[in-house]
Amino acid sequence: MREAMARAEVGDDCWGDDPTVIALQDRMAELLGKEAAVFVPSGTMANQLAVGLHVRPGEAIAAHPGAHVQVHEDASAARLSGAQIMPIGTRGGYDVAALETLIHQEECGWPRVGLVWVENTIGDAAGAVWPVHDHAEAQAVSGLESIARATRAHGRALHLDGARLWNAVTASGTSLERYASLADTVSCAFSKGLGAPAGSILAGSSETIARARAHRHALGGSMRQAGILAAACSYALEHHRERLAQDHERARLLAERLAEHDGWSVQTPQTNMVIAHLHGASAPALCERFAEHGILCSPNRYDELRFVLHLGIDDEAVDAVTRAAVQILA
Ligand SMILES: *Cc1c(COP(=O)(O)O)cnc(C)c1O
Repeated sequence: MREAMARAEVGDDCWGDDPTVIALQDRMAELLGKEAAVFVPSGTMANQLAVGLHVRPGEAIAAHPGAHVQVHEDASAARLSGAQIMPIGTRGGYDVAALETLIHQEECGWPRVGLVWVENTIGDAAGAVWPVHDHAEAQAVSGLESIARATRAHGRALHLDGARLWNAVTASGTSLERYASLADTVSCAFSKGLGAPAGSILAGSSETIARARAHRHALGGSMRQAGILAAACSYALEHHRERLAQDHERARLLAERLAEHDGWSVQTPQTNMVIAHLHGASAPALCERFAEHGILCSPNRYDELRFVLHLGIDDEAVDAVTRAAVQILA
């Protein structure tokens, strides 16, 4: 990846003439089945461009509670676009009924829902896949297809925060294009599981992405020889997607091993994240204990630890986490 970055042919992406950025944007537009795409430094910026494109100040965004845009973007939707996030459903998603209830509330003086928001995979739900089709078991969560249909029927816009859409594709077998076809705009990150140092993409119609480019400039996100970064992202796209299945396998292995020890309760992971709870212990304190063993994990909720598997984590590292978890329990 470093060599690809060093070799990258560059221009000036402020002027839109960096060939390596253009190649990445074109490739992503093709993979997502959209007319155009724009390269941005971070997933947060991709999401905030989407907010600015679809929402007028004073309007609401319908999202599940714990969505990245609600809790991990420092209230940017409110700060930058005057938008209010209205959580509906549960941390695992919402159904059409919850969405339509919120839209009907507009007739009772509630803010207009300018944008319907979905995230895939769902970070706060241990990287769960939001499926395309309705599932009988997942009663409070509708499939994305039903949500998209209801969104269109009400004349609203749909954004898919696909920072980890690659993981959803790997776990479900549903294509990037199929997921993207349900949304007006979709964002994907190269800097999470794919392992590039920076970079995300926002894709949509040509008209939408032209506006997004202007908005990107306003936010300070136009970078000049950005091809150096885009080369890393293209490398990641080419070489690091197949191996995501290994992260999912290692996550399952880690969850199984933790669950062998009474005290740890663990959800079975669908993708690359393991959420673990140790009765009576706070997650921030546990993170410090793991750090003493050289293991970096993060508190997801105050009582939930989150381990994220990625291309820097091999079998040996999984063994090390298991050993540390047993010692901490003791
Ligand atoms: C990480 C993440 C983002 C933001 O990406 P950054 O590049 O860290 O700004 C947005 N949405 C989701 C679901 C994420 O996991």
